[in-house]
Amino acid sequence: MLVTGGAGYIGSHACKALALAGYTPVAYDNLVYGHREAVRWGPLEPGDIADRKRLDAVVAQYQPEAVLHFAAYAYVGESVQDPAKYYRNNVAGTLTLLEALVHHDIRRIVFSSTCATYGVPERTPIDEDHPQQPINPYGASKLMIERMLQDFDAAYGLRSVSLRYFNAAGADPDGEIGEDHDPETHLIPLALQAALGQREALQVFGSDYPTPDGSCIRDYIHVTDLAQAHVLALDYLTRGGATTALNLGTGHGHSVLEVIAAADAVTGRAVPTVLAPRRPGDPPVLTAVADRARQVLGWQPRYTDLATILRHAWNWHRDQPHRPDPGFP
Ligand code: UDP
Repeated sequence: MLVTGGAGYIGSHACKALALAGYTPVAYDNLVYGHREAVRWGPLEPGDIADRKRLDAVVAQYQPEAVLHFAAYAYVGESVQDPAKYYRNNVAGTLTLLEALVHHDIRRIVFSSTCATYGVPERTPIDEDHPQQPINPYGASKLMIERMLQDFDAAYGLRSVSLRYFNAAGADPDGEIGEDHDPETHLIPLALQAALGQREALQVFGSDYPTPDGSCIRDYIHVTDLAQAHVLALDYLTRGGATTALNLGTGHGHSVLEVIAAADAVTGRAVPTVLAPRRPGDPPVLTAVADRARQVLGWQPRYTDLATILRHAWNWHRDQPHRPDPGFP
């Protein structure tokens, strides 16, 4: 099984899930944001999805049955500052990948999409038929890929499952891998690093949202549950399943302040916080209707409890050597 972005946060957890399901995951990753040491369940083939020659060589060597495609840049703010980087890497890079797959007669792909394709929700919770009107180039790049996948199915018979993640969170329950972004922008790792004294106080972006406690509500889904959904999506495609797009979330929302309270409880420390203005582009509430993935894939998320998600993330973060975050160049 070829796993683009297999050295990244979600990709590496998917490699573990694949190995546990009896597949050999071949991680194909340019290591710009991925981590060599996160590739532990199969070979690492360094390479870029935009490098057709390298892709051809790796595909010819391993002859994968199918592909899990995680490789992408995923910083919303950066995508607004430098959209070209996102359209080139995510969209053009994926086009090169898809052309290579068709050329090598590989007809199944599971794609890492996002709830950012919906934009500002007209209604919550969000089901898959909600209009997709992304408000940043990152979300737009992922939506363009969903569209390419539909067209590649119609024309070339490349079947796909696009999985629209809500907020990926947590870490491997065994503590073997976890979330490690450079720079880090996500709430849970920032909160835990602040608890460890590795950062200044956590900024709470917005306390005047129309939510019960005034902070934003998100649907946090455990990364191991996301990984499992990819294995089930592969099985679905192997059974002959049709191209589709599915939300992956728990269906339950938690506010920023609830996440901080859970981090306080799990760490036994008080996460230092400071109230800050709203972050541009953050809708008040993003939660999923996640029934379709359950019905179509038989997916049943296991770690839906916020405290469990925080506990797994904490177990991992606590054991990491402290490396100063370089920030954006
Ligand atoms: N957030 C925050 N402080 C931070 C980072 C994030 O208050 O330092 C909030 C953010 O506004 C959002 C939620 O935490 O409501 C989750 O943000 P994250 O960046 O983790 O994921 P996103 O929702 O952007 O995918």
